[in-house]
Amino acid sequence: MPTFKPRPRLLLGPGPSDVHPRVLEAMGRPTIGHLDPQFTAMMDELKELLRQAFRTQNALTIPLSGPGSVGMETCFVNLVEPGDTVVVCQNGVFGGRMRENVERCGARPVMVENEWGTAVDLDQARAALQAHPEAKVLAFVHAETSTGVKSDAQALCALAREHEVLSIVDAVTALGGIPLEVDRWQADAVYSGSQKCLSCPPGISPVTFSERATETIRNRTHPVQSWFMDLNLVMGYWDGEGGRSYHHTAPINALYGLHEALTILCEEGLPDSWERHQANHLRLAAGLDKMGLKLLVEPSARLPQLNAITVPEGVDEARVRSRLLNEFDIEIGAGLGALAGRIWRIGLMGESSRPEKVDRVLDALGSCLSA
Ligand SMILES: *Cc1c(COP(=O)(O)O)cnc(C)c1O
Repeated sequence: MPTFKPRPRLLLGPGPSDVHPRVLEAMGRPTIGHLDPQFTAMMDELKELLRQAFRTQNALTIPLSGPGSVGMETCFVNLVEPGDTVVVCQNGVFGGRMRENVERCGARPVMVENEWGTAVDLDQARAALQAHPEAKVLAFVHAETSTGVKSDAQALCALAREHEVLSIVDAVTALGGIPLEVDRWQADAVYSGSQKCLSCPPGISPVTFSERATETIRNRTHPVQSWFMDLNLVMGYWDGEGGRSYHHTAPINALYGLHEALTILCEEGLPDSWERHQANHLRLAAGLDKMGLKLLVEPSARLPQLNAITVPEGVDEARVRSRLLNEFDIEIGAGLGALAGRIWRIGLMGESSRPEKVDRVLDALGSCLSA
């Protein structure tokens, strides 16, 4: 069998995004032991870099071994116990997965449902919390990658505080791409992923937990049903200021990659990264407008890092995607669920958010549509 050598692609889908060459180079460095003092010193730096990215002082701020879905599941299995009530806001695919997580914890989801392509409605969320004073958690998706919609995470976190419930925030696509202020907004449990706006390969899920959330985990009545995701155990490895105990073998080289990616983000500065994502989104939107293409989401709720485009009448959307991939080496995303066949999704995340990459996809899309 020959060595596997993929053709490079321009990754403009819903993730993974283009990986920074410095990140790939870092991941090729020598593998050392996961309890080696060199490695544990790097782990401390990584926690500090993550605190800067999340804008938090939270002690429990770590990268979990696994994709964004592991971050999601870790938040639910640690904070939710059998019999609890969780208000779940759903306006796309990922809110639906939150609901499944709640059910699998033996808890009761109360759904706040909004049309796909629109933001979470604050009044509906408030009404659900008022109608369910027994609720323990409010869960929502900050950046809904399936539709390209941004919800008001600051207001939803404030709503959770007003009603004295914990907030679980899906920031998988948000982190690095749009403002996210964990401490200022008093968010309780926030999870992200390495392969969206952090320009890293998939496989790592940064998470952060407030003091309130950490106390809730320490004071559970039932043990967490997942051994692998039980933060009481995981903390023994990541948090041991004195000594670190073995829980599972950390993905050493993947963590070198995340360390490099976060270093690059800090060098650029978060506000500059947010601004770059916004500027390239506007560049794309202007180009699409010239071609007569429409964005699905109304301007105030648009995510700069994920652009949902309405497929024009009479165009075979799958054929366009396959030509972009096979003739232009550009990957874009299809619609999911209710929006399958109706939209394309162009992701401009992390390293994929560059003006020359926007121009490349606009040119390629133009030739596909005129053909
Ligand atoms: C990508 C994504 C996830 C899941 O992340 P994986 O790394 O694919 O497990 C969860 N939520 C949102 C909003 C996402 O965009």
